[in-house]
Amino acid sequence: MLFQPPLPPQYARMTEREMFDRIRAHKAAFGRRLVILGHHYQQDEVIQFADFTGDSLKLSQLASKQPDAEYVVFCGVHFMAESADILTREDVSVILPDLSAGCSMADMAMIEQVEDAWDRFAEATDAKIIPITYVNSTADVKAFCGRNDGACCTSSNARQVLEYALTQGDKVLFLPDQHLGRNTAYAMGNPLESMVIYDPHAPNGGLTDAQIAEAKFILWKGHCSVHQLFTVEHCEQIRKNDPQAKIIVHPECRWEVVQRADLAGSTEYILKVLDEAPEGTSWAVGTEAHLVNRLANRYAGRKYIRSLAGIQCLCTTMYRIDLPHLTWSLDELAAGRVVNRIKVHPQTRQEALLALQRMLDNVSATPVSAK
Ligand code: SF4
Repeated sequence: MLFQPPLPPQYARMTEREMFDRIRAHKAAFGRRLVILGHHYQQDEVIQFADFTGDSLKLSQLASKQPDAEYVVFCGVHFMAESADILTREDVSVILPDLSAGCSMADMAMIEQVEDAWDRFAEATDAKIIPITYVNSTADVKAFCGRNDGACCTSSNARQVLEYALTQGDKVLFLPDQHLGRNTAYAMGNPLESMVIYDPHAPNGGLTDAQIAEAKFILWKGHCSVHQLFTVEHCEQIRKNDPQAKIIVHPECRWEVVQRADLAGSTEYILKVLDEAPEGTSWAVGTEAHLVNRLANRYAGRKYIRSLAGIQCLCTTMYRIDLPHLTWSLDELAAGRVVNRIKVHPQTRQEALLALQRMLDNVSATPVSAK
């Protein structure tokens, strides 16, 4: 995780109203030179200032299509700001208001670990392995996939990308999220026995040569600390207390939870299903708390929407992007200083673009970048 130095003391003394006023004034002064992106899981007081809201890839693609943008402030986490830097013009500065806003899942697959794993697989098998990384990964890991005939995927297109990967090689390394990999491969008709887990912290990855050679899917032992909090017990509780309720979850949830849910899909899918749901219906949603609370408020009195869990499952690292950090980063920008710029190395950028482009080539005709 990167280190964020403490903010100057005046930001602790500022009222919410003062910060609102400053942010609005900066937005007005910069006009279209400034683009603020807000991820779905961001808190309300921050996301209200976003020019665009959405998931990480959609936001980066939108930023790349703003011809007047000079500064992109990403109210999300580190890997998202990297993706925005990869997809926008080289002269655009991408800013992450708090450098400590990382993603625990992306941090579970460091490039050195991935390279060690690749060597381990080469010892165990001559089979052609295609590495596929969820976009929730570092730019280094995306670049690794790019230079090894692999691709990126999102939770919306993971199935199409895995189908493509199996036409290119004998087996797939899926990282960093074991759950998205397992849920997707299983939904494609592959039995759980065709999958093994590679643990970067265990000797030899916790796998024998024979297990590596026989597996069709090697799943990296990573997970989202938010979505892994949803359990089978939460599902059973909902079934007992509200038998009419439908359960909808994100595929970053455990396989057992997805099996007990009525529906599973990406954030955009969840938004669409809830939007189209008839009035009077009841929903238990297995995804990040800020988004679920926002949806509950949006449909209050018309549809009953609440979290699948009784506890608050929130992304605590994204929560670090708060009003003081957003105000500070814009104050600095107005003073002519770019703080917290996220810059991806040019070669990493090129190789990561390759992985992103392979994904898009196999799911849609949209180019990766507007450049
Ligand atoms: S919700 Fe999970 S995957 Fe998304 S940014 Fe937070 S920790 Fe990472």
